[in-house]
Amino acid sequence: MQKNKGANSTYFGNILEGIKSSWTGLRLSLRHFKQASQKHLPNNVDDPDYFKQSTGIVTLQYPYEALPIPDNGRYRLHNEMDDCIVCDKCAKVCPVDCIDIEPIKATEQVGTASDGSPIRLYAAKFDIDMAKCCYCGLCTTVCPTECLTMTKSYDYSETDVRNMNYHFSNISPEQAQEKMDLLVLFQKEKEEAKAKAQREKAETIISEETEKPQARPKFTPKMKAKPADTPAEETEKPPTRPKFTPKMKAKPADTPAEETEKPPTRPKFTPKMKAKPSNPKPEEDPEEGKD
Ligand code: SF4
Ligand code: SF4
Repeated sequence: MQKNKGANSTYFGNILEGIKSSWTGLRLSLRHFKQASQKHLPNNVDDPDYFKQSTGIVTLQYPYEALPIPDNGRYRLHNEMDDCIVCDKCAKVCPVDCIDIEPIKATEQVGTASDGSPIRLYAAKFDIDMAKCCYCGLCTTVCPTECLTMTKSYDYSETDVRNMNYHFSNISPEQAQEKMDLLVLFQKEKEEAKAKAQREKAETIISEETEKPQARPKFTPKMKAKPADTPAEETEKPPTRPKFTPKMKAKPADTPAEETEKPPTRPKFTPKMKAKPSNPKPEEDPEEGKD
């Protein structure tokens, strides 16, 4: 008969089995107690022994203790405004529209970014609302001067969500208004100068036109009206050649001379038939003479 493993069916066997299982559990607890005297070192993930630390307490007393963040951690956004050329590319590419930029055109180049790009715009407003950000990193990818980056700063929790909107503009609202007024003035002056230049150009064209020699009067042939009575003109008119009209010579009624001059025509031949005698003589009977 096969003997059952585990529980002893006898009274003392069951007690022994209970002591054994209790000791197994107690041993495990004692082992964890011993390990709790040690601590999980806050090693960086770059540390080769990072994954070898399988013992020790892993819970850290945050915020007094914190695990180090890798240098390439992508958390809060930061914009280095001195290198920003306010091109607006980051705002355009953001899928959640959490970047808000208000550019002001400068009247001249105001600086140069670290990569040599000229800065011709002020940012009256450059806000990034990190409460909306989905950390896709697209804005940092398109930034031409690489001034917009994701930092490894991950602890920026706030009790008021409005505090998650970060302002990066490097000019105050008063300075922004001043730049705007300057721009308006500059544009006005520019338009006035342009209008003046156009006026001067138009004036020079007009003066050139007036200085031009008078154009020859346009020749327009005039038809002379025929006067009612112009005997003198008619007499002065050159004699026109007489119109040639061939005249048929009229046959003269009596032209005896011509007739005499005409060659003698041959007499018309008219055959004449001999007229039969009205009483023909009876033929003599040859027989009569014989008698
Ligand atoms: S990381 Fe993505 S969501 Fe956040 S600001 Fe940049 S583009 Fe927008
Ligand atoms: S893309 Fe870069 S340079 Fe252009 S506005 Fe954004 S932060 Fe500035």
